[in-house]
Amino acid sequence: MSFSTLGLLPPLVSAVTEIGYQVPTAIQRAAIPVILRGGDVLGAAQTGSGKTAAFALPLLQSLLDNRNGPRQLHGLVLVPTRELAVQVGESIRKLVAHLPMHIKVAIVFGGVSINPQMMALRGGADIVVATPGRLLDLIDHNALKIGRTAMFVLDEADRLLDLGFSEELNRIIALLPPQRQNLFFSATFPPLVQALAERMLHQPERVEV
Ligand code: AMP
Repeated sequence: MSFSTLGLLPPLVSAVTEIGYQVPTAIQRAAIPVILRGGDVLGAAQTGSGKTAAFALPLLQSLLDNRNGPRQLHGLVLVPTRELAVQVGESIRKLVAHLPMHIKVAIVFGGVSINPQMMALRGGADIVVATPGRLLDLIDHNALKIGRTAMFVLDEADRLLDLGFSEELNRIIALLPPQRQNLFFSATFPPLVQALAERMLHQPERVEV
């Protein structure tokens, strides 16, 4: 099985090859074709499984497909921690660096001054990787609007809830447009995570590895 059989466009297959991925991981094989079909996805996957590329490649493909469409926030990726925001955001930037179009990836997280992040968001971003509290701060400062998000990714949902981000998540979800694709990833599915998934997802396909 290779990346080219998953339904990815040639520039994306070249990009993954150039960064050194030869064979898709299990989560990538299972999730990429499903995400490319456009429906919601409930993914059970651990860190280290390759799940970042599993959601980033279809997200980048939808940006490539839509290159002449109206500029809007295309992908919002919510993560529980600053470390993960940087890690996920940099992984996406690594792929973007090998693509033939300019795609702006903003990485925002709390615990640091908000001003540079507000500056970085000027002129918009195609993909925003964020922790929940800082995302809401930026929205409250009018630095960012999420009402036209096409793809919403919740990464490590169990950790987001463990860290007490439930209220922030509710506020964020309420600001998203009703028409959107949702990708929900979690390593574990205790009742609160299950309930959040049920509330957020519309007829999801389950992907487990
Ligand atoms: P993740 O689970 O997304 O944090 O990825 C874990 C690590 O695996 C990262 O260092 C990725 O760069 C790497 N990785 C992801 N997909 C592949 C792949 N198909 N082949 C080789 N390495 C990969």
